[in-house]
Amino acid sequence: MIVEVLEVWEAAERLLREYMLWRYKAVGDDRTCPECSGWNGQVLSVERSDELRGLFPYGEFAGAAVFYPRLHPHCRCVVKRVYSGEGLTLTGNPFWQET
Ligand SMILES: [Zn+2]
Repeated sequence: MIVEVLEVWEAAERLLREYMLWRYKAVGDDRTCPECSGWNGQVLSVERSDELRGLFPYGEFAGAAVFYPRLHPHCRCVVKRVYSGEGLTLTGNPFWQET
């Protein structure tokens, strides 16, 4: 019984995590700074979308699925919601990596 409850809980948690995945996308041209390049392609898992603000204090939302992290002035990066965790591996909270 306890095992079943745990399994359901884990499945629910997995679903929740998959639902709250965000992928960092830097522009990737020669004006992109090393910090933004380092974030490029990282997939973040958060429990609530407003947690993105904890990671990027100057960031702002542009809709439910788009977030501008504003790592620095004139930052052109965007963080977009990803709807499936397929092909992604959790590498330690809150980072996922494409596999
Ligand atoms: Zn940037």
